[in-house]
Amino acid sequence: MSLPSLFISHGAPDLVLTDLPARRFLLGLGHAFPRPRAICVASAHYEGPEPRLTSAAAPQTIHDFGGFDPALYQLRYPAPGEPALAARVVAQLAAAGFQASADARWGFDHGTWCPLRLMYPEADIPTIAVSVSGQRDARWHLELGRALSFFRAEGVLVIGSGALTHNLHEAAPPAGNTQAPPGVHKFADWMGARLAAQDEAALLDYRARAPEARHQHPSTEHLMPLFVALGAAGDAWRAERLHSSVSYRCLRMDAFRFDA
Ligand code: ZN
Repeated sequence: MSLPSLFISHGAPDLVLTDLPARRFLLGLGHAFPRPRAICVASAHYEGPEPRLTSAAAPQTIHDFGGFDPALYQLRYPAPGEPALAARVVAQLAAAGFQASADARWGFDHGTWCPLRLMYPEADIPTIAVSVSGQRDARWHLELGRALSFFRAEGVLVIGSGALTHNLHEAAPPAGNTQAPPGVHKFADWMGARLAAQDEAALLDYRARAPEARHQHPSTEHLMPLFVALGAAGDAWRAERLHSSVSYRCLRMDAFRFDA
């Protein structure tokens, strides 16, 4: 069984509790393909200059946000880790030339646990997270994902969790605010079109070619998980957009599925 890889826009943490189109989409997504044996999430909220892999057997739920509904801080995602899988991923990444390491301290930040709580509420699938870097470019993350593609054949679901657009200076409540500035759609639609066209060269050069690229991603850590997911599909990939909506005015909540 070879699973697809996924890019998910995780939105704000309150997506877990707020009835929005993106929440309804994620609630159904866990049933869209066979149940994974394990999950590996590249989270925009787990950053480091070199790849780190969470290696705790019982990873903590991290509430790495402020100013939201107090109920959110009571939620846990008690899925087990899998130290042996983390060690094998570290070795695979090292073989691909990355200075990867195991990280027993980090757990599930909200880029990991918020979407997984909707997709797999039973929290019974072993899950590890891999860091991304806002200092590294799209190609670096694509190669990182390619090194992970090996594990898809074992039933490991690779998820990139970020945001297709992420200029928080343009954010405005409520969560259901869909009145996005035109630049949000210009950038997101360009990315969607290049993905549909399998135009990897343009995607890797998005910073120069995509309209509004620097404005929609003043820092890049929320887009890089897309390239990890793309890479995990292997070098002959195709993309399918599974969802599109807007939240908090500035966030395109698109999700993509990548197959080899
Ligand atoms: Zn985020």
